[in-house]
Amino acid sequence: MAQQYRKKYEFQSEIKQLLDILVYSLYKDKEVFVRELISNAVDALNKVQFELMTSSRVEDRDEELRINISFDRDRKKLIIEDTGIGMTRKDLMENIGTIAHSGTIDFLKKLSKTKEREKVDLIGKFGVGFYSAFMAAEQVHIYTKYFTKESRAYLWKSTGDTNYTIEPTVKKKRGTRIEVFLKDDQKEFLEKHRIEAILLKYSRFVPFPIYIENEKFRVAEAIWTQPRSSLKKKDYIEFYKFFSNVQEEPETYVHLSSDAPVQFSAILFVPRSSMEDIGFFRSPPGVDLYSRKVLIQKNSRDIMPEYLRFVKGVIDSEEIPLNISRETVQNDIKINRIKKHIIKKLIAKLVQIKKDDREQYLRIWGHFNKHIKEGIISDFENKDRLSQLLIFHSSKNKEEYTDLDSYRGRMPEGQKEIYYASGPDMKAIEKNPALEAFMKKDIEVLYLDDPLDEFVLEHLREYKEKAFKMVESAEIEVKEEDEKKKSKAYMEEVKKFVTYLKDLYGEKVADVRVSKRLVDSPCMLVHPSRGPSVQMERIMKMADKEYQFSKKVFEINPDNKLIKEMVRVHKNDPKSQSLNQLAFQMLDNMMLREGMVEDVDSVVFRIQDIMLQAAQKIRTSSGKKTTEEK
Ligand code: ADP
Repeated sequence: MAQQYRKKYEFQSEIKQLLDILVYSLYKDKEVFVRELISNAVDALNKVQFELMTSSRVEDRDEELRINISFDRDRKKLIIEDTGIGMTRKDLMENIGTIAHSGTIDFLKKLSKTKEREKVDLIGKFGVGFYSAFMAAEQVHIYTKYFTKESRAYLWKSTGDTNYTIEPTVKKKRGTRIEVFLKDDQKEFLEKHRIEAILLKYSRFVPFPIYIENEKFRVAEAIWTQPRSSLKKKDYIEFYKFFSNVQEEPETYVHLSSDAPVQFSAILFVPRSSMEDIGFFRSPPGVDLYSRKVLIQKNSRDIMPEYLRFVKGVIDSEEIPLNISRETVQNDIKINRIKKHIIKKLIAKLVQIKKDDREQYLRIWGHFNKHIKEGIISDFENKDRLSQLLIFHSSKNKEEYTDLDSYRGRMPEGQKEIYYASGPDMKAIEKNPALEAFMKKDIEVLYLDDPLDEFVLEHLREYKEKAFKMVESAEIEVKEEDEKKKSKAYMEEVKKFVTYLKDLYGEKVADVRVSKRLVDSPCMLVHPSRGPSVQMERIMKMADKEYQFSKKVFEINPDNKLIKEMVRVHKNDPKSQSLNQLAFQMLDNMMLREGMVEDVDSVVFRIQDIMLQAAQKIRTSSGKKTTEEK
C-alpha cells in the first residue's frame, strides 16, 4: 500500500554538497553522530514538554518523556527513538530535506571557496546535526508522528545521495524513531558498551531518561540548571567529585544563572590543588560547554580565558549552537557577554573570600597566584578587577600579607606613589640599600619576592591613581637638615672623590653623585625612572647576549665608614692602584646585587687580589702584635 503513496524528493542542492563533504571528507570522530541524534531527541522532548505544559493538544499525555536506544544486529541497525514532538510531512521536508538555518547560502559559498582541510571547521561551525548520521550510515529511515491527535505518521528514507522519499506509515505513538543502517565498517555502533561510552562522554547530563535495550542508563542530574535554593553544599561537592573524577572537595564554587539579556547557567569550581603545583607545566582548561544540557565542548579552550584554566565546571547556554566551532566561541557576541559576566563574578567571589576568610584566601593564593598574575598581564579588560586580588609582604607586613587597598589606606597624606622593592626572597630584599631612606621616613614598601610581581606592577602602572614605583628609581631624600652639620673641608674631598670615581668608571655608569637617601650603606645604584627594569633587562640579556644593560647612577654615602676611609686614601694618594681596585669592586658589588655583572672572573680575580693585600696587612700587624707581646 505504502509504495503507491511513496513520494520521491530531491535534496536541496546545498544539502547534497553537505552530504558529500560529510561522507567523503569529514570527521574522524564519527561517533559524534550519536550525540547529534540524541541532542535532536532532547530538543524534541523539550518541545513536547513545553506543549504538555501549555496545551491540551498532546496525544499520549501519559507517555514517559524518554529516549530509547536499541539494536537490530541482523540488519545492522542502530535505532534511536524518542517520545518527543515528532514531525509532520511538512516538517520532514522543511527540516530534514532543506537546511533551515539562515545564512545557508553564504555558508555554502564560503565552503566552496575553502581548502579541504578547513572545511571541517566551517562545517562544525555551521552545525550539521542530523546529516552526520550519514557518516556511519548507508541508509537512514525516520519514522515520525507529530504530537497532536489528528496527526499521521510518516516514513522518511534516504541513502544520503541525491534523493529522499516520504510515505505514510504506521506508528502508534507520537515521537520519532531513527533507524541508522550502519555501513559494514561501522558495526561498532551495534555494541551496547560502545554506545554507553559515547553517552557517558557527551550526554551524561541529558535531562530525560535514556534506555539502552530497555535498561535505564544512569543519567546524572544537571544540577546547574536547578535553582540555587534547592541545592545544598553537599550537592555541589558531589557533582564536583563526579564531574572531575576526584575525591577531593573543591575550595569554593559559584553557581550563576541568568535569563536576560542572555540565558545561561553555570557552576564553576576552584579546586583545592593545582596540577601545575606538582610539575605539570600547564593544566588543560577545565570548563565544559553545554547547550541545553548537551555537551558541546569538553574542556573548552575558549569559553574561559587561558589564565583561568584552573577553574573547573560547566557553562550551559541555549545561546550556544551545537557543533559550535572555536571560532564562534571566540567571536559570538552573546557568548562573549556570558564569558564577561562569568569572569566578573568569579573574580568578585575571590575578592569576597579575600575579605572574609584570610586562611582560605591564602590557600587559593598559594595555588593560583601565578594564574591571577598571568591574568593581569593578559586580560586587559579585567586587569583592574584582578589587581584587587594581589597580596604582598611589605615593610610593615613582614609575616602577614597586605593588599593594595590596605596599603593605600595606610599611605600618609602627600605620598603619591606605591613603592616596591624586589628580590629573590625577603632577606635579600631587606638588605637593599635603597630601602634605607624609606625605613627612616617610615614609608611602607611592598616586598616583591616573585619574579612575576615586578612585571605585574609594571604592567598595571598604577593602582587607583597611585603609580607604582621601584625604590631604586624613587626620588627620595632624607638628609637635607644633616647637610649643614658636615664639615665643608670633608665635603670638598668627597666632591674630588666623586670626580675621581666618574673618571675611573667612565662608560660603566651614567653618573656618580653624593646620595641624599642612603643612611647606612656605602653606595647604591639608582635606576632611571623611565626605561626597562633590571628584571626586564636580565630577560633581554638572556634572549640576546649582545644586549647592553642601561647605565645606572652610582650614589655614595659620605657618612659611611668605608666611603670615609676611601676619601681619605684618595686625599693622600690620588693615584693609588689599590684604591682603584677597591673602587671598581665597590661598583661591581652593586652590579652583582642586580645580576648585571657580565665578567664574573675578573671580579673574582680582583677580590682575590684585595684579599691578598688584606692578608699581608693582617700578617704584618699580627707580626707586630706578636713582637709587641714578647
Ligand atoms: P538542528 O538540530 O541543528 O536544527 P538537524 O539537521 O539536526 O539540525 O535537524 C533539523 C531539524 O529536524 C531540527 O531542527 C528538528 O526540527 C528536526 N528534527 C530532527 N530530529 C528530530 C527529532 N528526533 N524529533 C523531532 N524533530 C526532529
